[in-house]
Amino acid sequence: MRRTLPGMLTLAAALAALFQQLPCAAAEPARASNASLPDEPFSFDKAWGRLPKNVVPLDYSLNIVPDIANHAIHGEESIKLQFRERTGTIQFNSLNQTLDHVLFDGKPVPVVDTVNERQLTTLTLAEPAAPGMHTLTFNYEGKMETRPFGLFVQPFVKPDGSKDQLLSTKFEATDARRMFPCWDEPAFRTTFALTATVPVAWSTVSNMPIAKRVLHDDQATVTFARSPKMPTYLLEFTAGSLAAVTADVGPTKLGVWTVRGQENDGATALANAKQILADYNDYFGVAFPLPKLDSIAVPGGFTGAMENWGAITYNDQILLVTPSSTIGNKQAVFSVQAHEMAHQWNGDLVTMGWWDDLWLNESFASWRAAKETDLRNPSWNWWENEDASKERAMDADARVTSHPIRSHVSNELEARSAFDPQITYSKGQAVLRMLEAYLGEDTFRDGVRRFMKARAFSNATSADLWNALNAASGRDVRKIAASWTDHAGFPLVIASASCDAAGNRTLSLSQKRFLLQNRGGAQNATTADAANAVDMAEWNVPLQMRVGNGKPVAVLLAQDDQRVAAGRCDEALSLNADVIGYYRVAYDQATLHTNVAHFAQLPFGDRIAQLDDQWALAEADARQLPDYLAFVAAMGSKFDERAWEQITHALSIIEYDERGTPGHEAFAAYARAVLKPVADSLGWDPKADETPGIQRLRRTVLNDLGAWGDQTVVEEARRRFAAFAANHDAIRPDDQGMILSIVARNADAAGFEQLHAVAKTAKNETELRRYYTALMNVRDEGLAKQAAEIALSPEIPEQAAAQRLNMVATLDDEHPLLSWQVLTGHLDALMAAYPQYGPLILSRNVPEQYWNAVPLDELETWVKAHVPEPMLPNVARGMEVARFKLAEKAALVQATDAFIAGKVH
Ligand SMILES: [Zn+2]
Repeated sequence: MRRTLPGMLTLAAALAALFQQLPCAAAEPARASNASLPDEPFSFDKAWGRLPKNVVPLDYSLNIVPDIANHAIHGEESIKLQFRERTGTIQFNSLNQTLDHVLFDGKPVPVVDTVNERQLTTLTLAEPAAPGMHTLTFNYEGKMETRPFGLFVQPFVKPDGSKDQLLSTKFEATDARRMFPCWDEPAFRTTFALTATVPVAWSTVSNMPIAKRVLHDDQATVTFARSPKMPTYLLEFTAGSLAAVTADVGPTKLGVWTVRGQENDGATALANAKQILADYNDYFGVAFPLPKLDSIAVPGGFTGAMENWGAITYNDQILLVTPSSTIGNKQAVFSVQAHEMAHQWNGDLVTMGWWDDLWLNESFASWRAAKETDLRNPSWNWWENEDASKERAMDADARVTSHPIRSHVSNELEARSAFDPQITYSKGQAVLRMLEAYLGEDTFRDGVRRFMKARAFSNATSADLWNALNAASGRDVRKIAASWTDHAGFPLVIASASCDAAGNRTLSLSQKRFLLQNRGGAQNATTADAANAVDMAEWNVPLQMRVGNGKPVAVLLAQDDQRVAAGRCDEALSLNADVIGYYRVAYDQATLHTNVAHFAQLPFGDRIAQLDDQWALAEADARQLPDYLAFVAAMGSKFDERAWEQITHALSIIEYDERGTPGHEAFAAYARAVLKPVADSLGWDPKADETPGIQRLRRTVLNDLGAWGDQTVVEEARRRFAAFAANHDAIRPDDQGMILSIVARNADAAGFEQLHAVAKTAKNETELRRYYTALMNVRDEGLAKQAAEIALSPEIPEQAAAQRLNMVATLDDEHPLLSWQVLTGHLDALMAAYPQYGPLILSRNVPEQYWNAVPLDELETWVKAHVPEPMLPNVARGMEVARFKLAEKAALVQATDAFIAGKVH
């Protein structure tokens, strides 16, 4: 979810970019209603779900014979069942299967009723069976998928250029039933013994090691060891011409599997996994319980990664590191591994009882991954890096149509609605970090250990977590935490200082929900949304207050007009020290001026927090723009990548909004003047002791200067590109995207052709993504049309098909209408790679991206016509942002022009 080419995608970061690095599933939004949220410890009987709990599966013996030629599955299944009461019916999930030879305790079952639309099969037994153990067996014919869900076949191009295919699975949230009939809800934990028959030359990977392999003719029948009790969505099977690199961590065998011939590209991931596993074994207090942990690089296929227990699958672009990889690629590999491996505990060892509590999986894995990435890579400044995703979450959460972290999911077919990248992942992560800081790192870890120990090999609810944290801390954690997890939005803390005669400062603190309100046009929020917005939870806000450059002090804001002594009035003040909090702060004007005066000397985290907040306040009310720009002017000469990238982000938004207005050139000149000293100081080439973040800042600044008309930057980029065209080693992989994009943006026909020729030389997918995406920045209208044709052409191979959407979205920066026409004209081709994400992309990302392409009514009508009815709340969220951006554009242009005029005169 980070921009791999910072600054390339201005504004609503291109929609598909969101999904490329989104770990695990992602899809539709959650429901607004919280009426049925559990507030009690997990109980199997009370766990939500559609399937009755009177018949409970304990073990599956599953034997599948995939038929790739016919996209079919021949299966045999034997299920050990516990009847908890006398009953004559058995109900479970199935999808696209035909059951045959259905036997209950060896006797034929007279009625087998399969309803595909409900994804259910109901068996009626010859007579009711007594409580106790029984066995259900059947054969079935099922469907192999060609898109990445269920058991799917994935075509790909091998390193030698020849074509091949492999099989893999992707089950979360409810697609295990596409491979085999099962009780496909998370509370039904069972053991699995999987057997599969595949070509003899193929390797096979599942959750457990291979127990037996029998060869017959050109086929091999492989039986995997029986798994521990786990939910169906974590079962995994991959088979193909694969190879692995391996290592041991204590008793655990680690493997990184790739298409044969690429296994050396897994070396970095293997080294990462060794480190992460050792750290997590310690942190969680329960050692990884399976005998092995494999990571599997799947070419093409699904985007992101999936945390199957002991057999994690990844899109190969976020697991493999090649000589073409950038530091950004390597950071993505580490952080996504850290996320998926955290799930081996948060999600796999302890699974949420129902999808309502998905945050126990996703928020925890995101938070734990950021903590691990920061711990093991101190030069990456990882928490500062994560501030960008926190800001995106706060942007989404500042809308009246936002929703809580915990939201009710009424049936499992809507489970994917709970995977909201901004709220479930990023807000959840930020709230956990704030809670950890408040309770203390050791206390929080102790609570996590208690939680793991108490709920291992079982399920949990939020109440189980609160109980564990209460026990560890001796405090009522739920009281503080629930206002953050169970309500939409976050507070704006209003700080008002008064000074006594001696210059001592007393703060009066109050709070209200922070909203980015639509300032013009029709308000689209429904009455319910508006009611939701004014249902302002009184948040318990764990402030971290710093006076001057002293140590932060914890202050819990729990009542209105709370009074706090806060040093002297001539000292700087931060109420979000080290930018840990998930809230915003509005300071009174006198305190703002004091902070501006001391700004260049403040800790980086405090500067970042004030830039974030002041920019958000300017977005909410453009009259506050000068206060934000005063901070920008006070930055001084100590560089910090996140603070400066916040500034380039804000300036990019204004520059975009000013395009086509009379004030554009004056603003562009101002923006260039702001960035020029940074660029001059950093130069073009990295220095030996520079952190990756400062190197990224250099690329961001140069890219923006190139986009905003700095001709010396454009000329230098062209000079470097000429050297690169002759010899690809002339530019480091990290800088290629930036330089190629500057050249493309300013290219004429000959230059564009040269860039296109370079793109064709890409020797792997990493380069292919980079070179072809750079082409999409071209500013010339005619060449942009050529770029669009290239994005749709067979030059983009099947396994990189998901990139097409990203390319078309990149085109939107310079050519909104063209990009829109390409999207709407080739929708099926562009969305084919996103079978699960499609409705979310269309309902939410498309309005946020294309607000400037066509009239909003036209946009909304189109979106509504292309998404299913249950997605309408999502359309409302997308359109709320679109309307806001259009209104913001007018307000920012006016405020900016006035500011620039004031500077000139
Ligand atoms: Zn995840």
